[in-house]
Amino acid sequence: MRVVGFSTGRVRPKRAARGARRYLPGGWSADTEPVNVFAVTHPDGVLVFDTGQTAAAARPGFLPRLHPYLRLARFELTQEDEAAGQLRGFGFDPAAVRWVVLSHLHTDHIGGLGGFPWAEVIVSKEEWEFARGLAGRLRGYVPRQWPNGVVPRLAHFDGPAVGPFSRSEDLAGDGRLVLVPTPGHTAGHVSLLVRADDRAYLLAGDLAHTAADLDTTAPEVAAYCRTNDIVVLTTHGEARV
Ligand SMILES: [Zn+2]
Repeated sequence: MRVVGFSTGRVRPKRAARGARRYLPGGWSADTEPVNVFAVTHPDGVLVFDTGQTAAAARPGFLPRLHPYLRLARFELTQEDEAAGQLRGFGFDPAAVRWVVLSHLHTDHIGGLGGFPWAEVIVSKEEWEFARGLAGRLRGYVPRQWPNGVVPRLAHFDGPAVGPFSRSEDLAGDGRLVLVPTPGHTAGHVSLLVRADDRAYLLAGDLAHTAADLDTTAPEVAAYCRTNDIVVLTTHGEARV
């Protein structure tokens, strides 16, 4: 088993982290951040964790401006940056991907979902309900971005506690792909513990901005990963895999 990480283009935040002025036009930061996607090769098939952004999101007007969250980030990517195409470059056939796990349903995690038409898509039940309809749109989700006809498998976490995680769901039945609830960034956010051949990883999505930030946002998780030598990989940190 191995883990491959890459970025689907970049996201440029506003220069100011706080204050009302950041909602005015302009004021973009000089720095950008990656929008990472991870692929895991398991003996039963390839798992993709989050799907990154779609190139359409780089076009003005594609993303609604309903929620402040959507006004504070500018996505910079082309079609070549999209997840499915990049995976082909790494030697994976997107049509053969078995599972797509979505940490949560924000736009830069589901944008590439249409590229994996045959995968089983896994979302937590809580996140799925939280993101739907007008209430979801007001919370910063973009439900119309969800591909028609994709019905996700809703994770229920009927497995035992693992370290600091209250419950778990063993996706492949061998303890090597273990889904754990990590609420915080959103109510239904999930992370994936991967026990690969060489070492263990926590694919943490937006649980923390970068692995270093985990000490602040989820100190028990940070301590658990440190003690057990688990590599933390986030969506917007540099993916060194
Ligand atoms: Zn998010």
